[in-house]
Amino acid sequence: MEMTDQRRPGAFLDRDGVLIEDTGYPHRIEEVRWIPGVMAALRRLNAAGFAVCIVTNQAGVARGYYDEAAVGRLHHWMANEARAAGARLDGFAYCPFHAAAEAPRYRRESPRRKPGPGMIEDWLAHFPLRRDGSFLIGDRATDLEAAAAAGIPGHLFPGDDLDAFVAAILKGN
Ligand SMILES: [Mg+2]
Repeated sequence: MEMTDQRRPGAFLDRDGVLIEDTGYPHRIEEVRWIPGVMAALRRLNAAGFAVCIVTNQAGVARGYYDEAAVGRLHHWMANEARAAGARLDGFAYCPFHAAAEAPRYRRESPRRKPGPGMIEDWLAHFPLRRDGSFLIGDRATDLEAAAAAGIPGHLFPGDDLDAFVAAILKGN
């Protein structure tokens, strides 16, 4: 009997500009504005069998605009909001490092920082997820570069309705 690959593919989503509006280092819950269609998009990805994983650069930590606890609080809140809408966010990865950080502990070139593929590779290896069938949605060229470096398709979200965008991707798969 042939063994089939039971691992799920991943839908890797950039956060700022894809799930929530990129208002410039968003980090306060009360200022978060969800992207139109976001919960329907998440439910669609859940139903299609994808593990939905956030991969977000958070250089605001390196720059001292907010701390990692604030990132954690925002992600916890996002997960709860999704759950309340019948959707599921399976994982949150963020990269707080930047080569020009003020604080020495955050001053480094990290392979996890997009355009590096580190966050995607870590999800694929440790969730674990199936690379074949996985894809990324981002709103910047560096997101797509990270996807390409991880050997998965990258889709540039123009910032309208996320559910319509996801539906079109799944149709093309
Ligand atoms: Mg973005």
